[in-house]
Amino acid sequence: MRTILVIEDSPLVLKILDHLFRQEHDLQPIFCASLAEAEVMLETSASLFFAAIVDLHLPDAPNGESVDLVMQYNLPCIVLSGSYNEQRRDELLLKGVVDYVLKESQHSYEYAFRLLHRLESNSQVKILIAEDSEATRHYIRHVLTPHRFQIIDARDGDEALQILQAQPDIDLLVVDHSMPGLSGFELVKVLRQQMKRSELIILGLSADAKGSLSAKFIKHGADDFLRKPFCPEELNCRVMSTLERRDLLRALKQAAQFDALTGLNNRRAFYEQGLKQFQQAQRGGHTLSVAMLDLDFFKRINDEHGHASGDAALIAFARAFTHAFPDALIGRLGGEEFAMISQQNGASLSQALDRLREQCASLKYAIGAPPLSFSAGIYHGPPDDLESLLHEADQRLYQAKRQGRGRSHWQ
Ligand code: GH3
Ligand code: MG
Ligand code: MG
Ligand code: MG
Repeated sequence: MRTILVIEDSPLVLKILDHLFRQEHDLQPIFCASLAEAEVMLETSASLFFAAIVDLHLPDAPNGESVDLVMQYNLPCIVLSGSYNEQRRDELLLKGVVDYVLKESQHSYEYAFRLLHRLESNSQVKILIAEDSEATRHYIRHVLTPHRFQIIDARDGDEALQILQAQPDIDLLVVDHSMPGLSGFELVKVLRQQMKRSELIILGLSADAKGSLSAKFIKHGADDFLRKPFCPEELNCRVMSTLERRDLLRALKQAAQFDALTGLNNRRAFYEQGLKQFQQAQRGGHTLSVAMLDLDFFKRINDEHGHASGDAALIAFARAFTHAFPDALIGRLGGEEFAMISQQNGASLSQALDRLREQCASLKYAIGAPPLSFSAGIYHGPPDDLESLLHEADQRLYQAKRQGRGRSHWQ
């Protein structure tokens, strides 16, 4: 839970903010209606706050004194203002506020909340600035610092490449085009052969007036482009939107690969990775085991103890299963049906499944619910074809069910 200091006197704005905060479970506001109130609050409890949302004009602080107060305490500060003034905006951003939000519409307030969420995650974001001009490097660092990023400098393209190779966890590269040695443009070409967009965001910079350069940058793999000189707000917006896009892409990939309930590989990801393992085993000339598992009388758990208990059983089982086979490829193929590919032979896999079965019998997943039991079919052999091996394992699973459940069948 993060506590946010809100210094605002307008009842209408307070009502909107209060409404928005109620939808945010991890953000807790503390409201102050005047500068005097905020002074007391900060003097006694500054360490309580993660960030502040501050009205630029208060009855006892008509000239932005509330912003100076918050900045003294080194708190990330998001400014709210009823009127737009370009000069004032640039002054504030250069002073080090996170951003300047106009009290215009619901959308502007939502933007302020997006900023608060980004501040949370920004401390994990590493930005590399590759720029030969010291003044520009300094300016970019100055603009980005209030957002709580980790910032690293490189004075030319070659240095940037070295840093990126040593620190592959860098998230975003801001890269100037004309630099001595490796130019920004060449750097982007080299980097895009090694790193995908989801691994490194690239933001190109150039003072060149030609529009074609921005297109060239983007066609060769940059995510966005800024023409120098740019105002602080422009840089902030581009950095934020490219980060949001990257996060969205990652979330989509995550959703496409993993089952939302158990976090295991879903059917598609299991087959994709399974095929790769089969090809590797074929090249290496080794055998593989595949196993199909199905929870026993699972419908009864749902019917007699509720769907939530069924879900809890699936989560508990998935956790125990992955824990028992840390080296195997495991997937949830659907419902209460799971599959595994392992390098162990059939006998040792069967023994390991027996140990898992004992553990499952004592898993506590819902009050009053019966012990968890599963049946399994195992097939061990040369990695001819994933589909037919899974079919063989499924046949054995069916036999295990027919023989009374709670057992594995592998011969
Ligand atoms: P058997 O021992 O023969 O496998 O019997 P069973 O009851 O386990 O098998 P059956 O195929 O009859 O029922 C499986 C049930 O699993 C039916 C379905 O509603 C339930 N199920 C599938 N996916 C989920 C899920 O994500 N959550 C919950 N709670 N139940 C699920
Ligand atoms: Mg340059
Ligand atoms: Mg079942
Ligand atoms: Mg089933």
